[in-house]
Order: sequence, then C-alpha cells, then structure tokens
Amino acid sequence: QSQELSQVQIDYHAALQTLLEDGTRMVCTGRMHTDRICRFESLCYSTEAEEFIYFHSNSSVMLPNLGSRRFQPALLDLSSVEDHNTQYFNFVELPAAALKFMPKPVFVPDVALIANRFNPDNLMHVFHDDLLPIYYTMQQFTDLDPETRLFFMEGWSEGVHFDLYKLLSNKQPLLREQLKTLGRLLCFTKSYVGLSKITTWYQYGFVQPQGPKANILVSGNEIRQFTKFMMQKLNVSLEESSSEEYIVVFSRTINRLILNEAELILALAQEFQMKTITVSLEEHSFPDIVRLISNASMLVSMHGAQLVMSLFLPRGATVVELFPYAINPEHYTPYKTLATLPGMDLQYIAWQNTAREDTITYPDRPWDQGGIAHLDKAEQERIIKSTEVPRHLCCRNPEWLFRAYQDTKVDIPSLIHVIRQTVKSKPGTKKKWSGSLYPGKVRDARCQASVQGTSEARLSVSWQVPWNLKYLKVREVKYEVWIQEQGENTYMPYILSHQNHTFSENIKPFTIYLVWIRCIFNKNLLGPFADVLLCST
Ligand code: UDP
Repeated sequence: QSQELSQVQIDYHAALQTLLEDGTRMVCTGRMHTDRICRFESLCYSTEAEEFIYFHSNSSVMLPNLGSRRFQPALLDLSSVEDHNTQYFNFVELPAAALKFMPKPVFVPDVALIANRFNPDNLMHVFHDDLLPIYYTMQQFTDLDPETRLFFMEGWSEGVHFDLYKLLSNKQPLLREQLKTLGRLLCFTKSYVGLSKITTWYQYGFVQPQGPKANILVSGNEIRQFTKFMMQKLNVSLEESSSEEYIVVFSRTINRLILNEAELILALAQEFQMKTITVSLEEHSFPDIVRLISNASMLVSMHGAQLVMSLFLPRGATVVELFPYAINPEHYTPYKTLATLPGMDLQYIAWQNTAREDTITYPDRPWDQGGIAHLDKAEQERIIKSTEVPRHLCCRNPEWLFRAYQDTKVDIPSLIHVIRQTVKSKPGTKKKWSGSLYPGKVRDARCQASVQGTSEARLSVSWQVPWNLKYLKVREVKYEVWIQEQGENTYMPYILSHQNHTFSENIKPFTIYLVWIRCIFNKNLLGPFADVLLCST
C-alpha cells in the first residue's frame, strides 16, 4: 500500500484554476446531522488551523444550505456513533479569492472517505462503529471503490487494530497527524464525509442507559457479507463442514479473568464430547482467531469486546457470554443483540456469577480499571455491599467499572445447566438458512353481498394468490382478512386458508364494509394489505 498521494498524475495548474473558479461543491444526503453524508468536490483542510475549509465562488454549491443551523449542533456526525459532541464535522467558509494569500494547496487526487474512528483500541468499537459502517458507506457510493483513500480525523494514532482498517481499501489509510507532513493546505479533489449508521445495532449509553438501538436496520445477511469480505482479505478460507467440531473459549489474560479456565475447558470438552481450545487477543494472531472461530460450534467468553468476534461464527453456532458478579446480563447486551439479529442464526446464552465467594474484586486499582479507593468511604461500602449495579450512563460509573473488572471463578454445574437448557444435543448443528421472503399483495380481490330479509346479510370475498408465490417454496400460506364497518374504528379479523370466504356473522344489511386482505407465509411473514375493498350489503 502506498502512502504518497502522487499516484494519479494531476495537472497542478488546472486543478488550482478549477478550485479558484469553481470553489467547493457539496451535496449531502440525509435530513438531519445524524443521518447526513456529504459528497464534496474541492473540500480543503488547513493542517495548521486543523479546520476544513469551504471556498465560495460563483459556481460553488452547498446543499443543504442551512445558514447558521449548520452549527446547531453541527453539519454531520463524523463517526457512526450518533450525535456525540466530540464527533461533529463542520467547515469554515472563505472566498476563493482568499487562496491568493494562503499556502499553495496540495491536491489529494484519490477519492477520499473522511471519518472518525470512535475507539480504535477496543475491538467491539472497531467492528461496530468503524469497520462495518465504513464498508457499507463504501457500498453506498460507487465513487468509493477499492482505490478509496480513508482519512481518519479523530486524532488517535494507528492503534492495535490498524491492520483491520487497512483491509477496507487498497490504499494506506491516513491519520490526522500525518496530514501535516503532506502540506499546510490540502484540497480533496473528490471526497465523502461521514459514515452510514445503517449497520449499527447498539447505543453505548451516552444519553440513556446502554442498550440495543431503537430501530435496527441490519440483518445477519449483511453482517455475513461483510465477514466474508474480511475473511477473503485476511486469506482465511472457510473449511469444509466435514472437519472436526470444537468449542472455542475466548479468554482475557489481563483482566476480567476466568480463574478456573482449565477446569472450564475440561468440563465443556467432557459435556459436549468436543475438543475445546482457548484463544486470546494477546496470544493469537487475528487471522488465526478468525480461522478458529469461523468453524467453531460454540464460543464461550467473559463479557467484553472480544465477543464481537461472534460476527465470524458459522450459522447455528452458540455464543455463551459469562457475566461477573452483580452485573445483570439484561443491562449489557451488545453481543446478545448481535447474536440474535434476524438471520444471524446463532444461539445466545448468558450466564452470570451469582456467588459472591466466586468473585475477586480490585478496589485498589486505578479508577479506569475498576478501582474505588478514590471514592469516599460510605460510597465504597455501598458499592461493596451492593448485589447489582443499577442502570447507569456511559462511561465512568465507578460501580460498573468495579464490577466489570472482577475476576470470576465459574461455577461449572450452573454454567452447564444453563447451556443445556438451550443446547439439547450437540451444539453447532448447522441449520440450513430457510430464507424469509415476504408475500406480495393478494390480487383481484372482489366481494359480493347478499341481503336476507331486514336483519341478515352475507359478504362473499375472494382473491387470487400473490404473484410471487408461484416462484417460491412456502410451507404454509394463509390469509388475514379484516372486516371493518365504514366509520368504525374496530374491525373483525379472520385467519383463512382458502382464497374465498363468505362472512355472515355480524354482517348487517344496507351497510358499507371495508375489507382488508393480506397474505401470510409460514405463520410470521406478513405481506402488505391489498388495496381496500369497499363492499355494500
Ligand atoms: N482485552 C483483551 N484482554 C484483556 C483485556 C482486554 O483482549 O485481558 C481487549 C478487549 O477485548 C478490548 C480491549 O482489550 O478489545 C479493551 O478492553 P476493555 O476491558 O477496555 O473493554 P471491554 O472489553 O470491556 O469492552
């Protein structure tokens, strides 16, 4: 990968002339700063001021043109973490004529994707906040091809997982610090600023206690398309399913330890009659971990960022997350949410240490490793006595950190018991993906009414199967019909197996009914309602 920018030959004089005459052009998607991504031509950056610059000229474009709302609070989020006040993007404005008094611009010929990494030293953050969003932002805009240059503006150094970021494009990503070595005024010929949030599934608790995002838009399919790409780049091939089945224990070696790991491994091996191996980020290369996890039947680990590696588990595998004493598994669910995304097809099991004698606490460590010695005595006492960390906001809650960094002796019988409640026979029997395609609208819906005397009437309704049914193998096809008297708020629902039905219960003569019909595949795949039928008895 090459670091120098002079890959594509550009005519410097022509580029400068274009900048002077055309200025900056920006067109964005998204209605709010939290869902906005902007495409720029001739966006510049002053490495001295550490500011982006928008140059106005007769031909410049700024859409949206927000006026001062651009600062309320920002034009867009530079990271995929929503509305975080350390991650905002904006630019300062200058007339193009000011270029005459500025350092000579250095042009960046590569198409640039400009963004912030959120926490590049934590593997969960690396995948969830950066790698997946960058990958799918690049899928969204065709300009962002494999020759894209990534620019990370958060200001961190490479970090321990930089090799993973390098897999996303063929060019070496550049960090904010490195821009200074390129010049005082950089101008990006063509750039995209911001990241798609469409793949993120978790909010870390900055404004309300952490939990799954309110409106998750990603499924296991897109996650697995991404992991397939990563595995190709890492040169990890999927092995044949014929190879031996095994369990992986992902261990931490610095903190939040499993104290009886050897005993745990023996017990798992014996219970499930499978080879059981341990891996850790400290002792294995990343490609080796991916290779091992991508063929495992079960992944067992303490709660922690390493569990994001369940991204790479095969369909049908089981994730077992171990929680230290006083930490309620329901309150910390980034990995549960991942494992249970529709189409991930993983089984998720949480185990919590409920025995105080099986935990080791570290009150004297520094605060960021869970120490509480800096708190007043009463508060220390309260924390030590407490049996559950109350819900809290990110990121410095001392009671949470104290409990999160405990070591745990795992009670083997209770762990095996909870796993056995879910995994009845052998784990990891790879279910074949059944697919979940939704029905189209029913077609040619009609109704016919007949009146019997002054108080009774019937309504015969018929319709044709959805158009896509003839191309599909569907186990069960049913129809839902709602009958609503015009002007009423309530309706009578029916589930039917055939394509016609005569309704006589509660049908009155000389009344107008609205009839809503939709098709249902396999009990839970609800199709759209067809256009409403108006039926007069
Ligand atoms: N980590 C690790 N072994 C350890 C402790 C941490 O591999 O013994 C990794 C962890 O997976 C994460 C990073 O170091 O990628 C930071 O860990 P931290 O405890 O701060 O975060 P958490 O795992 O609680 O998200």
